[in-house]
Amino acid sequence: MRAIENLNRAGAMELDRIRRIPVRKLRSLVRPSGFFVQKAKKVKIFVGYAWRRHGGDLDAWLRRPLGALRQELLEIHGIGPETADSILLYAGNRPVFVVDAYTRRIGNRLGQFLTQEYHEVQRYFQENLPKSVPLYQEYHALLVRLAKEHCHKKNPACRACPVLNLCAYGRGEAGRRGGRT
Ligand code: SF4
Repeated sequence: MRAIENLNRAGAMELDRIRRIPVRKLRSLVRPSGFFVQKAKKVKIFVGYAWRRHGGDLDAWLRRPLGALRQELLEIHGIGPETADSILLYAGNRPVFVVDAYTRRIGNRLGQFLTQEYHEVQRYFQENLPKSVPLYQEYHALLVRLAKEHCHKKNPACRACPVLNLCAYGRGEAGRRGGRT
């Protein structure tokens, strides 16, 4: 969040501005989000690609047919499924569910699925939720919040978790540890 605020304050939310900003400056702007050296490098590669191949017209590029567009994103250096799908969902407003480590952890603990494989987890959500961009965005944001506020990797705070009644793992954890709140 602070990285986004920094980029906003620096007027660096536009593709052309990011293209022209020195990488060292970009690193300092995205530093609060962690892994800032790699992130700045990947952003530069992505923006350079968008500029060379699509004339910097991100909106037109992201309106292309979904399957081919996703494949193209995955072929850009440094872009994996989670990043590609985040670009599609948040920048392109395309109905693609984003899977991250939080999603996998919570889903496994809730017993929604037992796999860690990206596309199987994604299929679970896409087959069980209405195909809706705002819903996918909100759902992902709520999973991130749940993971940060309660479903920590170690010592989850189960007793105060809003989905404890749905979570056998959490009830066991809360009973065993007395649960953190
Ligand atoms: S009850 Fe515990 S394990 Fe289950 S989702 Fe909540 S925090 Fe995670």
